Formats: sequence, structure tokens, C-alpha cells
Amino acid sequence: MTFVPNSASARDIAHHLHPYTNLKVHETEGPLVITRGKGVYVYDEDGKDYLEAMAGLWSASLGFSEPRLVDAAVKQLKELPYYHTFTHKSHLPSIDLAEKLKSVAPVPMSKVIFQNSGSEANDTVVKLVWYYHNAIGKPEKKKIISRIKAYHGVTVASASLTGLPNNHRDFDLPIANILHADCPHYYRFAQDGESEEDFATRLADNLEKLILKEGPETVGGFIAEPIMGAGGVIVPPKTYFEKIQAVLQKYDVLFIVDEVICGFGRTGNYWGSQTFDLKPDMLSCAKALSSSYLPISAVMVNEKVYQAMVVESEKIGVFGHGYTYSGHPVCAAVALETLKIYEERNIVEHVQQVGPRMQAGLRKFLDHPLVGEVRGTGLIGAVEMVQDKKSRASFDPKLGLGAKLAKIAQANGLIVRAIGDSIAFTPPLVITEAEIDDMLARMKKSLDEALAWLD
Ligand code: PLP
Repeated sequence: MTFVPNSASARDIAHHLHPYTNLKVHETEGPLVITRGKGVYVYDEDGKDYLEAMAGLWSASLGFSEPRLVDAAVKQLKELPYYHTFTHKSHLPSIDLAEKLKSVAPVPMSKVIFQNSGSEANDTVVKLVWYYHNAIGKPEKKKIISRIKAYHGVTVASASLTGLPNNHRDFDLPIANILHADCPHYYRFAQDGESEEDFATRLADNLEKLILKEGPETVGGFIAEPIMGAGGVIVPPKTYFEKIQAVLQKYDVLFIVDEVICGFGRTGNYWGSQTFDLKPDMLSCAKALSSSYLPISAVMVNEKVYQAMVVESEKIGVFGHGYTYSGHPVCAAVALETLKIYEERNIVEHVQQVGPRMQAGLRKFLDHPLVGEVRGTGLIGAVEMVQDKKSRASFDPKLGLGAKLAKIAQANGLIVRAIGDSIAFTPPLVITEAEIDDMLARMKKSLDEALAWLD
């Protein structure tokens, strides 16, 4: 493609290094420049509308034009635009937000610590697993188990937790002492004739074997997303978490739930932990915490973890961790307003109401020649395209069908995420039934065009 000199696209190619982008392709194809948003739609430079079926990055829960969040930011900017939370300093927005998060936590939590991103939250979690075990006199108990296809971020430690090859390859990751257990994707990894329950039992048995092989005295933590997001929207099989949690309890392994995508209504309950009856010792959240209007993340720790931290920080003289922007007052004020709006507008009930329409609509695509599996719950879902429905054989990855579908969808005014040949949907939580129908119609057209492209 050729670009008008000095256009936004030309300048982007010349100056801007993009995350999660094929840099070579970008040099010739350039960016999609989004200039404004309204509700669940965003608009490009030419005014073309796109239904944002990913809410950005699984994140802009209140859509792209919520004025109350703007007002909350402006008000806080005028009052106290910045202050920190180191060395016993504090400010009301972070106090209020910590209190609020604790009050809505899925299990009793003791304290809340703030970061700026999901990656930083999970990085903090890794350090807390280590700090905790040093504090309780078990310095060997440091290994953390994540899962194949998990996504926990891209900082050095959180990328190590992430179980996707492209986040490790040529970055010299993962770091030591991070292990990856089985991916709980029934459609892909169950054996012939294995029920969901049997598959879950096998995975829990494998986790136990892994812990025994490593030595239970060396395994300190297990981290999981309730539904794996960036790994392909993988919903755990029935009884999976019940069996996994029993193994963790047996070997005294801290359970960390990453609610960065699933938190705040996405799965049809306030937390994914409630959807799957999870009892975390620590919980990380971000994204919909502020509807992503400003960067903020949080880690909640239970009383057991907190008490150990108190002892250790007293011994050392300080809990030597934190960021310049931890609990940034403007971000915290926007997050507080976001949580207030969720309550006022009954966002969880709204997801319970409209989620089934999206799920039913996506499942209708099972009749399409390209679609092998549809999965999801609430307002998170994925459609997986396969070459052969019966054998579940995938298309040759070199074909790049998923990426092609996403490109066709974009031309049709629909922004989705391709994860291999799975197409993910996590629209803003405020989406209406009519907008869901619009989303599904744009997807249907795109699937038909992808099929025609294959011929
Ligand atoms: N954890 C999960 C489950 C995520 O989906 C993501 C991002 O998509 C992260 C952590 C990392 O968050 P961030 O991109 O804010 O660092």
C-alpha cells in the first residue's frame, strides 16, 4: 500500500513501534487509525464505524464514550492530580477504592495493593508468593505453576507465567521456577470417549504428579484465569477447578486467580471466581476495573498472606515494592466511578440478560461449514474454525485463516481478535441485544466471505 506523505498512517509507520504486531507487515500495510468512539462502536479517520467486539483489549467495559468517567477524571485532576502511596502517604481515591474492592471481593480479602497494568499485577503476585514463603520460613517453596495457553502478561515474570510460545520465544523466557500444567481445553485435548469430568480428573491427577515430581516443598503457587482469554477463550471442563483446588490444598500451594479479563461481570457474575467457585488466596484484576479509561490494576491478598508480609516487612524494615503510580489518584477516581456505574446500572444483571443472546447467536454458527466449536459464557465467547468438523482437524496454520477472517471482519466493520483460528468476542458489557444482533450479522457475513476465499 502507498500512504499519503505526512498522513497519520505514514507517520505511524515512520515513528511508532507497535506492540503485538508483525513489524514487517506493518511497514507495508500500516495501521487502522481510530479517531473516536461512541458506545460499542469506534470510528476511523474516514468516519467508518466498527463494532468493537473485543471492547478494545477485552477491556472497555462501559464502551467508548462514558461521560461520567471523564468527569471523574477531570474532578480529580483539579483536586489532586498526583500523589503517591509510598512511605505511609495516602490519598482518598486509593483508600476508597481499596475499601470498595474488598467489599465486593469473591472471598474475604485483607488488603489491596495497586499497580498500573495486569502484567504488573501478576508480577507483584510472583514476588508476593516468594516473599510470603520467605516470611513463613519455607524459602524452598518458590515454584509457581501456571498452565499451557495461560495469559498473564508480558513483563519478565508475568510473561514467564504466560503459557504461549510467542511470549517466550527469543525473549529467553520463561525464567526459572515457573512451570506449566495442562491446558483445560476439552475440545482439543480430551481423549476419545473421555467425559468432561474424566478429563478434569486426569488434569488434576497430572497436576498432582507434577507437584510430587518437583517436590511439594518446592511448589509455592498456582495461578489461573477462570476462563483463559488470550489462549483462546477456553472454558474449563465441569468439575475442573473443584479438583484442582483440592490438589492445591493438599500440598499447601497458594491459589492465585487472575481476574484481569473475567472480573467485573464478564462471565455473568461479578467475578469469574464466583462462576467457577474459586477460593483464591490472591486475586489480580485490571482492565474493566477502570473500563480501561486509565491504567490501573489491583492485587487483593487474604489475611494469611498479609500477616506474613507484615512480619517480613517488620524484619527487613520495609516492604520494598511499589510503583510511582501505585494507586494513582486520577486512575483510582475513575475506577471508583466505574464500580459505582456497574452497581447503578446493574451491570452483572445486564450481562445475565444479554449474554445468552450472544451465546445462542454464536452457537448458531455451528451450522456454518467453517465452525467446529463455539465456547463461552456471559459476554465472553469464541468461535473456532476447523477444516474437518468430524475429526476436529485444524486448518494448516500457514493458511492464516483466523487472521484472514479478522481482516475480512474489519472490512465489514467488525473488530474481533483471531487466536489461531479461534475468533474471540468480548464486547463492552453495556452492549444491547440489538447491537449483539448487529455484531452477529457482521460476523456471519465475514464467515461466508472467508469460506468463499478458501474456495
Ligand atoms: N492477565 C490476563 C488474564 C490478561 O488477559 C492480560 C491482558 O490481556 C493480562 C493479565 C496483562 O494485562 P496488561 O496487558 O494490562 O499488562
